[in-house]
Formats: sequence, C-alpha cells, structure tokens
Amino acid sequence: MRIPKARYITEDDIKMVTLNEITKKKYDAIYKGKLFCPTDNCPAKVSFCSGQKAHYKTWRFSNHSPDCIYHLNRNGRRTVVGSTPANTMNISKTRIQDALSRAYKSMVEVDGSELIQPSNNKPKKNDSPKTNGAVKEQSFQLKLFGGDLDEESSNYKGKKLLSRWVHLIAPNDVGQVRLIKGYVKDVELLDSAAEIIIGFNNEEMKVVFEERFRKEPLNKSYLNKFWAIKEMLSHYKEIYFTGVGEVREDRNGKYELSIFMGASFKLNNEDLYNIARVMSLQQL
Ligand SMILES: [Zn+2]
Repeated sequence: MRIPKARYITEDDIKMVTLNEITKKKYDAIYKGKLFCPTDNCPAKVSFCSGQKAHYKTWRFSNHSPDCIYHLNRNGRRTVVGSTPANTMNISKTRIQDALSRAYKSMVEVDGSELIQPSNNKPKKNDSPKTNGAVKEQSFQLKLFGGDLDEESSNYKGKKLLSRWVHLIAPNDVGQVRLIKGYVKDVELLDSAAEIIIGFNNEEMKVVFEERFRKEPLNKSYLNKFWAIKEMLSHYKEIYFTGVGEVREDRNGKYELSIFMGASFKLNNEDLYNIARVMSLQQL
C-alpha cells in the first residue's frame, strides 16, 4: 500500500509531510532520518524516494507495528536478509537469532518480578547488591521494548554454535565462530561503529566492528547507532552482551571478537538498531 505522507518528528513538534510537499532537496536537507510512518505510534522509519513516481518507502530494518495499515507492505519480506561472510555461511540467520536469545536467557531469567541467575553459569561473586535496582531496570527495559523473552527455542540438526562466557574462551576457539557472552564494560565510538569492551569474572575482551562490517550494505542501519550503547551505560547497571562472530587473538595475545553483521549481536537481548530507535523517540 502506498504511503502518502510521513510523520516528521523533531524535538518539539510532529507534523505530516505529504508527497506533494517534499522534494529530494528538502528531504536531504531537513527530513532525512527523521520521517516515520504516518500511523500514530507506529515506529517504522520511512525514507523518501524521488523520481517520476516519488514515494515513501519503509526502511529496510524498520518494522511497522502489527496493527498499522502499512504493516502488510512488509509481508513476505524478512527484516534482515542478505549475504554472510564466509565463515558464518553455514550458520543460518534464524539459528543465530535463536542462539542469541537462548544465550541471553541463560544469562538472565526473568520469572515474574524476580531476577534469577542460572545455576550452571556462575554468577559474579559480589552479586548481592543486584536486587531491586536490577529488577526495576529489567522490567523497565521489558516495558521499553515491549519485551518478549519467551521465544520458543528449537533444536537444530548439525553442529552446534558454541557459546562461551568471556572468561572461558580457550585457544581452540581462535579462528572459530562463537557466541560470546559478557557484560558491557565500556564502549569507544570509532568512525561509524565502535569498540565494545565486554567482561566477566575479571576477564575482558574487545568486540570489534571492522571495515568489512562497515562496508556490508546490510549493516547500514547499524552504523552511527553505537552512541546508544553509551547512553545505555549511563542508564543501566548491567548490560548483557551476546554476539556471534569470529574469535581472534590480537597482537598482544588477547582475545577479541569480530562481528560481521549488525543483527549478530544484542544488548540486553535487543538489536542495536531498535535500541537506538527507541532511545531517540524517548528523547522527544
Ligand atoms: Zn506503520
């Protein structure tokens, strides 16, 4: 269905911009990145395509709310598609997503209002202060993202995607694709991406997003969104990192994780793109 107008959201105003009002020039100068689906509260971002049949198009990584009339526009189309680097080729997208969500569940189990650490993953020793604050944060976060932690986990045939806590990475993980779990300790913004320091049990490692990450067209929506992690660090006591990438050893013999795809890592089980979107909407 054609989207005839878009919601233009600024710091203190929301207005509709019809196709008649917009031009390529105006779009580039004013509206780019600030246009949303015209349906009230629908979070889908739209862009303007000029030309003979000028139209508004839903961003590739953006989804309409289920009750939005433009929701059907996206039917039959996956939100995240595309090529995968050679060494993750044999691991399907669904499988990565499923593994990430199971890994997160293994890190934090939310049952009612209680935050429980799974027994098979030793919690931090000085864990006692993690009570009310953490629980509050968790439910706030669930509300914030319309959280859904109960995705069905399914079994896959074939080789398992091995997951490791930061402190349990071993030499034989080097050169392999692994799912790595840890807490975000710090983030340094670099170009359009960042380096994230994650840690657990006194071990830390760097998560890197290299040129091939930045050059991958499918990652476009993730570039320049890493500020959201900085923002999260100031709001949350703990940020769970789960990410699938290649484990490597840097020059100093320290392990690092190289992520290729924007959808292959999560913060508190959320996609960076979504986090940045929700955060920029909340700042209105
Ligand atoms: Zn919509």
